[in-house]
Amino acid sequence: MNNRIEQMLPSASMTLMARAKEMQKKDPTVIGLAGGEPDFATPDRVSMAAIRSLVEGDTHYAVGPGLPELRAAICKKLRGDNGIFCDENRILVTPGGKNAIYLAVHAVLNEGDEVIILDPSWVSYEPIVQSAGGNTVRVKLDYRENYRITAEKLEQAYTEKTRMLIINYPNNPTGRILHEDEAKVLENFLLSHPNVYLLSDEVYEALVYDGSRSVSMGSFESIADRVITVNGLSKSCAMTGWRIGYMAANKEVFSIAFKLYGHSLSCMSAFIQKGAVEAFKCEEETGAMLEVYDRRRQMFVGELNTIPGVSGVLPEGAFYAWVFFDINGMSSSEMCEYLMEKAGVVGMPGSAYGEDSVCCMRFSFANATRDLEIAAERIKKALLELQEGN
Ligand code: GLU
Repeated sequence: MNNRIEQMLPSASMTLMARAKEMQKKDPTVIGLAGGEPDFATPDRVSMAAIRSLVEGDTHYAVGPGLPELRAAICKKLRGDNGIFCDENRILVTPGGKNAIYLAVHAVLNEGDEVIILDPSWVSYEPIVQSAGGNTVRVKLDYRENYRITAEKLEQAYTEKTRMLIINYPNNPTGRILHEDEAKVLENFLLSHPNVYLLSDEVYEALVYDGSRSVSMGSFESIADRVITVNGLSKSCAMTGWRIGYMAANKEVFSIAFKLYGHSLSCMSAFIQKGAVEAFKCEEETGAMLEVYDRRRQMFVGELNTIPGVSGVLPEGAFYAWVFFDINGMSSSEMCEYLMEKAGVVGMPGSAYGEDSVCCMRFSFANATRDLEIAAERIKKALLELQEGN
């Protein structure tokens, strides 16, 4: 057996999503807010484009790094929305952003190389790095400083073995976006360490509230060649099940990643890619989803904030409520279990993201508004009971 993989913990988000589904079989009133999965349907015209393609016989190998028309659409989007000027020949279309991260990490790392990740961090970065024989150096960003990135923290984590820094903005799980001042810190860090790549996971980039914008590091000309941008359609277009993402990288990273792609995936399905081309024309649909997420964000975080001992910060982007609990000295995994059992609400414990300095949980509000209202009521009731019992 492969020791490295055997020793990994399974994906916590996948595990809790499955657990919610199991619980719902026995009790359909259980509300699953663990997985980040839009409750909206994929826009019809995207599905129709894929169906047309299927019926027209696009059912064979679509050999290559992605259909030319899709790579052109991705390039246009990166240029227009993110200020990233990337040649079409350096775009790789992948089954979800997760696979793009996997390929990029495997393309860059050699055995024993180090990757800096910023906690709280998404559950799969560390296992992906480990699968490539790399080691992670986890930088603990501080909740009391609103998880700000500082030059000191990055420098402390740097060693001669550092080959990559992974960032994720808008952030899963905290909902923070990348602001100009922190982007400058990242740029300077990369300029001082020319052997380091920056992997920027921007899969929530289209979901930013209050007219703000999260900075894309690939737009900094001084370091653009060492920025690998990952994005996808799962979140922006409610296409989680389609598995469609992409990476934009320099020529070297692209060609190594593409070699591994050929030996593992062969290629993406053509009909899925035809649907994806249409998805790049769905700004209006994404905008309409964003408005609904925005209302849910205000309502859900607002309701939780009325509970004594609970405080949630209004996220700037993505669709997660990152909520702090100061109740009976409970840890995040204890709180997660308690709410599952007593409130029938499944969320994610902060510890899954490396946040163990405070009790916090992540709840996805990409769920039906009525379910979120009920979830907030039930969480309130369960926590009031807990505190009254003191
Ligand atoms: N990225 C989503 C989440 O954090 C989906 C599950 C996963 O890929 O981990 O919930």
